[in-house]
Amino acid sequence: MQTNSNNVDPKEIEKFSAIASRWWDPEGEFKPLHQINPLRLDFIQQHCAGVFGLKALDIGCGGGILAEALATAGAQVTAIDLADASLQVARLHALESGVNVDYQLVSAEQFAAQHSGQFDLVTCLEMLEHVPDPAAIVQAAAQALKPGGKIIFSTLNRNIKSWLLGIVAAEYVLQWVPKGTHQHDKFIQPAELLRMTDAAGLEPVAMTGLHYLPWRGFYMDDANVDVNYLVCLCKPL
Ligand code: SAH
Repeated sequence: MQTNSNNVDPKEIEKFSAIASRWWDPEGEFKPLHQINPLRLDFIQQHCAGVFGLKALDIGCGGGILAEALATAGAQVTAIDLADASLQVARLHALESGVNVDYQLVSAEQFAAQHSGQFDLVTCLEMLEHVPDPAAIVQAAAQALKPGGKIIFSTLNRNIKSWLLGIVAAEYVLQWVPKGTHQHDKFIQPAELLRMTDAAGLEPVAMTGLHYLPWRGFYMDDANVDVNYLVCLCKPL
């Protein structure tokens, strides 16, 4: 794999490339992302007072599940990833959907250096736990943001419950996602993420947990960030 970044684990890129053709199968390996997408879009819209007209950057966009939703809601979206196979699927799907997203194969660090301070909204969902140095991605995301802009991260907390639910249940029992999708030691506790965002000069706005119950489906709970969680931050003016 050719890449312009050191902050990438080639095994992670291979893992996502191998199943790239299934990004848009609502019953396939990415089913959980399709199911949580409306909830995370709501969270983003709520904290950005809507996304219509915003210039948005989606880092680690995969097949474009969030990028397309943002574009459909009226944002002008650039979406980046280092898995070329996923970007090809994303571009084809955008043609089919008739939405306009600018997909680019480039690292977050390189893109941010070239587009410093240009975006109203930066999103980086379910990606930080797949990179060797998540703090560098947080720095790049903050760099791409305009002062006053909002940034959204989501990842998995690191504790026994997230190991049981995020790995044992999701990969082995329910088999929602392929075995080996996640490594528990790469999960990030909220305090660790907030140390990274603080170092990048970002101020927290809101945090919420994302949960699943068989009889309820996925739902948000502001009071419980034990497993999967989303955080919104702002770059001060
Ligand atoms: N953000 C999307 C996809 C999450 S899956 C969503 O939530 O719907 C994680 C994505 O991160 C994959 O598409 C993978 O290719 C990408 N990724 C992993 N390491 C990366 C890196 N170093 N730079 C850019 N993208 C990376």
